[in-house]
Amino acid sequence: MPVLVDINPDTWCLDVSAAEAAITPRTRAVTVVHVYSAVADLTGLRELADRYGLPLIEDCAHAHGAAYRYRPVGGHGVAGVFSMQGSKLLTSGEGGAVVTDDDELAHRAEALRGDGRVRRPGPINCGEMELVETGRLMGANAALSEFHAAVLIDQLDLLATQNAQRASNAARLDRGLSAYGARPQATSDGTTVRAYYRYAVQLPGVVIAARPVDDIAAELTTSLGFPVLRTHPPLSRCRLLDPATRPRFSGRRDYLARVDPTRFELPVCHSVHNSVLSFGHEILLAPAEAMDEIVDAFREILTLC
Ligand SMILES: *Cc1c(COP(=O)(O)O)cnc(C)c1O
Repeated sequence: MPVLVDINPDTWCLDVSAAEAAITPRTRAVTVVHVYSAVADLTGLRELADRYGLPLIEDCAHAHGAAYRYRPVGGHGVAGVFSMQGSKLLTSGEGGAVVTDDDELAHRAEALRGDGRVRRPGPINCGEMELVETGRLMGANAALSEFHAAVLIDQLDLLATQNAQRASNAARLDRGLSAYGARPQATSDGTTVRAYYRYAVQLPGVVIAARPVDDIAAELTTSLGFPVLRTHPPLSRCRLLDPATRPRFSGRRDYLARVDPTRFELPVCHSVHNSVLSFGHEILLAPAEAMDEIVDAFREILTLC
């Protein structure tokens, strides 16, 4: 059962002290998302996880190629998970990967991915399947096909250059938007490579107080010609994390009260959801001058108050 804790007000990633306050003897792992363009405080989280003997799992779905203290994200905890779904920085339409330096975990993940099948040891002879049955574990068939893998491997060559171009355009936006009082997303000290999955910026309180944030998002979408969106709602309000929708829990009112996700207080998550707008990484591959047009569109909104 996921236990939700609040986020850091600057990076919008898991807050280390909030995570510590939520740890109990029943805690099994700490998971962190490196969200939008930030890398979480991996020094603090690693120290916390080690102190309590808990595995740290990094969700790197937004952070392909990002690094913290010169080590790529995904390599700081016991495992890192990447999504290669259609919207991500590396994509094969659908797909994903788990990275780990723990042999036992790697073997387990390999078997779970292929319904118990693993790569055949040694050479593969003509007509032989690459995967062999082991019957060790019942998983699901979530194997990435060779075609998808080829598409991804080709994009790997482009990733560092694209990440650098996105970071340079983002820095230009940061300068332009800060001048009008907006607060671009920050990353943790120690970030050595930043990967922008979405460019996200927090609007000042006076702007938010004057107009519904959905109206601002709609106006920017119209003026810029690409979607400018609010952030994800806090997970405590996410329909997918609502145990009451599971028939197997119906009738167990005491249990539902105990696991009701709305019981978590997440004020920073709520304030970010109500004040941050973002747009997709592809826009950051436009020429640098295009960033000034984006700043102009935001300026219209930011200078009205
Ligand atoms: C996209 C995403 C995932 C996983 O997406 P899949 O569609 O399952 O590949 C996981 N975590 C975050 C934060 C994501 O953005």
